[in-house]
Amino acid sequence: MARRKKIYEGKAKILYEGPEPGTLVQYFKDDATAFNAEKHDVIEGKGVLNNRLSEFFMSGLNAIGVPTHFIKRLNMREQLIRQVEIIPLEVVVRNTAAGSMSKRLGIEEGTPLPRPIVEFYFKDDALGDPMVTEEHIIAFGWASQQDLDDMVALSLRVNDFLSGVMMAVGIKLVDFKIEIGRIWDGDFMRLVVADEISPDSCRLWDVKTGQHLDKDVFRRDLGSLTDAYSEVARRLGVLPSNVTHASKPTLIN
Ligand code: UDP
Repeated sequence: MARRKKIYEGKAKILYEGPEPGTLVQYFKDDATAFNAEKHDVIEGKGVLNNRLSEFFMSGLNAIGVPTHFIKRLNMREQLIRQVEIIPLEVVVRNTAAGSMSKRLGIEEGTPLPRPIVEFYFKDDALGDPMVTEEHIIAFGWASQQDLDDMVALSLRVNDFLSGVMMAVGIKLVDFKIEIGRIWDGDFMRLVVADEISPDSCRLWDVKTGQHLDKDVFRRDLGSLTDAYSEVARRLGVLPSNVTHASKPTLIN
């Protein structure tokens, strides 16, 4: 059988043509990158974990009426998704100061923010994803004022959901990034959460110890990334068995 048509390959995922019009298959690779791909590694099992974790978060959001591109998981590394027109923005929501915000504004990492803060970054690797304001977004036509209002509302609903789910298993949601896409129904357009939600795109700290359970483990060389992601998956009950290293066939005695 001919291999499905590849539509797009990014740093951590590949998109293939889906079985029906308007669908795609999203494949999760084991590649980890940071600092605009200056740091790169292949971490066996990461794709399997992110596929399961993104399924868990996206299907939870669908269940509470926050629309996402997620349809169903197909296998260990692939999920069926709705094809969307990606808005070229990364939407970051922050509850606690960390990462680039701490650096830029000189706020110590771990400082709680007085309210969730939503930021936008223009998705352009060559430019290093620069931060942009609503003024830029509207002036350059990436989204309308109405879209922006909807994107902020959507992101804050995702924040409430994810914060609650994580807090229930002893993990603080420090910040996260989502991407948002448009789905057209004739002339009617709606915005949905797209891409992925996983420890690659969130900062997750253990409530008691402050241990990092996210991609900072890779960015800052803090230990095993799969151990950290497996711990998140284990606490959420999404990995009932040890399936994280199933990319190679192994004999079971
Ligand atoms: N993030 C992401 N992709 C990016 C940039 C950031 O998923 O290209 C996530 C990151 O994991 C963190 C949040 O967005 O959860 C905020 O990241 P920040 O702006 O602090 O940048 P960083 O310190 O990660 O460079």
